[in-house]
Formats: sequence, C-alpha cells, structure tokens
Amino acid sequence: MNVQLLGTGAADGIPAFFGNDPVSEYARRHGGKDVRTRSAAIVDRTIKIDFGPDTFHQIQRFGHNPRDWSALIFTHSHEDHLCVSELQYALFPFVEMDHMPWPIFANDAVCDIIASRYPDWPIELVRIRSFQSFETGPYKITPIEANHKEDEDSLNLIFERGGAKFLYATDTGMYPERTFGFLEGWELDGMVLEATDGFHNTPYAGHLDIADAAKLVERLRATNALKPSAQVVTTHHAAQGGATHAQLEAALAPHGMRPGFDGLSIEIQCPNASVLRASDRQHA
Ligand SMILES: [Zn+2]
Ligand SMILES: [Zn+2]
Repeated sequence: MNVQLLGTGAADGIPAFFGNDPVSEYARRHGGKDVRTRSAAIVDRTIKIDFGPDTFHQIQRFGHNPRDWSALIFTHSHEDHLCVSELQYALFPFVEMDHMPWPIFANDAVCDIIASRYPDWPIELVRIRSFQSFETGPYKITPIEANHKEDEDSLNLIFERGGAKFLYATDTGMYPERTFGFLEGWELDGMVLEATDGFHNTPYAGHLDIADAAKLVERLRATNALKPSAQVVTTHHAAQGGATHAQLEAALAPHGMRPGFDGLSIEIQCPNASVLRASDRQHA
C-alpha cells in the first residue's frame, strides 16, 4: 500500500498565510520541505483523503487526476479539510459528467454541509461513523474516534488492503480511552500522525505537540496497536509550533518518528503480497 502526503500543513499552512513568525520567515527564504500546504493525502493514487483549499495546487504539483480516484473520504468538517465550493467543478456545466465520479464517505457534519450546498445534486454521500468499518473496492476502512472537533464525530482512518494496515491520524488530539482500547492488538504497519503544535504546548486539547504525539505513539506500541517495525510520519504542522523541518527531524528521531513533507510517498509492506496481486488484477 502506498500513501502519498499531498499536504502537511495545519489550517493556515507554512509559511502561515499572514504569519511573520520565525518558521514562516524561514520557509519563505528556504522553500523546499519547509513549505507546507493544507493537510491531505491519497492512498494508492485512488482513495483521496480530505479535499481542502489547496487541492487544486496539490493535484497539479503531484500529477493526480481526480477522475482516477475511486472514493473521497473526509476526516471532519474544518475548512482546511473541506473546501465545499471546489466540489462544484466535478459536475455540469464545468464538465459533461452528470454525476459525481466517486462516492464521498464522511461523517454527518460533512455530509450535511455538502448536501445543503448542493441540494438535489447527483452526489453519492455515504454517512460513516467511528468504529464502524466499511468497504470500498479492495479496501476495508475503519474510522476511529479522534479527540478534535467536539461537536462532530471527528475521524481518523485505518486502511486495510492485502494484509497491510495503515492509520491516517489527523486531526487527532490525545485519543479518548475507548479509542486506545479499540486499537489494542491491531498491529498496524504504519501511521501518519499530526504533530500540529510542535514545540509549543498549548491548552487546546484538539491537537498534539511533539511530546504528546510521542506519548501517543509509545502507548500504541506498548499495546501492540502498532508493530515495532511500523513507520510513523508526522503531518499537519503549524508555524506556531516553532519547528522547521530540520528541527522536527532532530526532535522526532529519538522517538522513532520522522516528519512528513508535501509529496512524501510512504510504502507500507503488504504481508500478503500474493493476495494483493490477485486483487489488483480483479480491480484493474
Ligand atoms: Zn486541520
Ligand atoms: Zn481540524
């Protein structure tokens, strides 16, 4: 299974939209991995995760065509993850398509926003909720409950295919006990985890700083939720966190983690590679 990070920035990106903080200024001068667009990812170039305001830029930069996608899945309704106005370009009169080319899987809050913006439009909305698995194509997907936007079921997402298990975890906060309990023994092969607040310990519980992200990962390893060999990559970094990419590398390495960057492609080994090849043929 391949996961590409298309964006790894928090709500206002890096350089922060209107920010003049040291991390934003560093990113303006140096570019490269220090520039982060709003968080989004894609699994096997086919399952799109979130559809934020930088989607247009990201698909051009990394060579993706939304018509090649098979599903769009949302984590939650914050506007750095859901740019509802951009969905209109999938349909007539912008293109000749008379229905959305793929289903949208999302919690009630996201589905309600899309449905009220596009009443009666031919969009297949599938309502999903935490701890209730569903399937799309060869993937089994299990949403889990994050500790983030309190007035909705904020979701992190486990993807399973060919025996490989991968967790996409943003926006996360410190998981509630029922989520830690649910994850025990999952033996995940890899995960992407937010470390929004970097070196900055804020009172807001809906995001993680580096220290809390490391604690969360440690607990997942201790309960066999995460395999010892599983790679852990961070995302959703805010300039306010006070860490450049190089500083994130240095701070995360002792915890067996590394910072993501826009465009990073992560390969997750599939234990049942032969099964995967068979199912590839089936779904070609
Ligand atoms: Zn966010
Ligand atoms: Zn959010």
